[in-house]
Amino acid sequence: TPRSRELWDRARRIFPQGVSGQAKFFAPYPVFIAEASGATITDLDGRRYVDLLMGAGPLLLGHGHPAVVSAVRRQAELVINPMLPNVLSLEYAERLQAHMPHLERLRFVNTGSEATRSAIRAARAATGRLKIAKFEGNYHGSDDFCLVSTHTREPAGSPDRPEGVLDYAGVAPRILDEVVVLPYNDAEAAAALIDEHGDELAAVIMEPVGFSSGGGIPAEPGFARAVRDATRRHGIVLIFDEVLCSLRLGLAGAPAYLGVTPDLVTIGKAVGGGLPLAGFGGSAEIMDAVLGPDAGARKIFQSGTFTENPLSIAAGMAALGVLESENALERADSAGEALRRGLREVFRSHDVPAAVTGVGSIVQIHPGVTAARDRRDVLRGDLALTQDIMLGCVAEGVLWPPVHPALTSAAHEPAHVERVISAVDAVLGRAPRT
Ligand code: PMP
Repeated sequence: TPRSRELWDRARRIFPQGVSGQAKFFAPYPVFIAEASGATITDLDGRRYVDLLMGAGPLLLGHGHPAVVSAVRRQAELVINPMLPNVLSLEYAERLQAHMPHLERLRFVNTGSEATRSAIRAARAATGRLKIAKFEGNYHGSDDFCLVSTHTREPAGSPDRPEGVLDYAGVAPRILDEVVVLPYNDAEAAAALIDEHGDELAAVIMEPVGFSSGGGIPAEPGFARAVRDATRRHGIVLIFDEVLCSLRLGLAGAPAYLGVTPDLVTIGKAVGGGLPLAGFGGSAEIMDAVLGPDAGARKIFQSGTFTENPLSIAAGMAALGVLESENALERADSAGEALRRGLREVFRSHDVPAAVTGVGSIVQIHPGVTAARDRRDVLRGDLALTQDIMLGCVAEGVLWPPVHPALTSAAHEPAHVERVISAVDAVLGRAPRT
């Protein structure tokens, strides 16, 4: 793809690492996209790809869904960013709350990172404690505390990544002092650590379906229950970070899916229908204590120029309308199931041991291990082969995400899934075996 190569050379002269942080994974250079529709993307040289990135999550309905496009167009003509109350955001909050009754209070923000940062800040203010606990391999966005134990490729403790921290200038390890890292899907060990640090912890934050280095691995319900019980014993705020799985586990979210209600949740990605929108909320008691009119000394700062921008709200609301009225979620889920099934089959046919994890429209592969329950299993896998598959797929016309799980959408038809399977089949057929 000559146009992409030429643009990549230009991009590296102005953007560090080319285009975005993730572009570096698409060696030797990423494709530059011209347009996208449904489950496919076309690059500037006219090559079409089946897209499994889906914008890293927001595009649950696929690219360019007509209901979303026309809602955004209509809204752009009315008002773009008033920074004033608007009826749309109120309506959308009420509709989300109708699906997620645990959202007694909600604040919209722009990104998942802002949502997790705000939820943590709320928990710290509500409890008057500083430390937080997170699970090994879970990703919660770009804030400093979130970067502890997220990295996919280097195991915790490797020389340049102590404890798996994404480091900068040697500062990051000091952040570890504020963060306790818990083992994922290990109820007993996690509860023991929560008990040990109990009275110092403001919050325990967890992903209901581990994202990047979490390996697309769902929390086991008994595990989530044990974490809930342990946090209750010590008055710790439990936060479910539903940014990736928002609306994907069902419109009622992870609490309904796992049968466990946390104190706070964060939502994002698909709730904006493809535009930047996220939120945090949950317990009225906590939210009012730190954001309400009587918050006093516990009041937290929470504001932003683009908060509740009507374009994002309109897009999110239009997407939710489609999810409510059509079987869009079932379509995305059945594409995900078909993909998991097909991938297991293709690994088997090449005699490559592999675990394929995920739930619904979230799919991740772990060649080299036969089961994956936590990040340690992920890191035991054949990460080089994972990388070969990802890069090989690009050459075969499939955009496989470099870090996070593959994601299907309501626009992924059986033929798209078939194309992915034959791409992986072709790559495995070529890969040298040891
Ligand atoms: N939490 C989770 C679980 C995520 O998957 C992500 C994004 N990958 C984030 C937080 C951060 O969201 P954003 O990229 O919108 O800041």
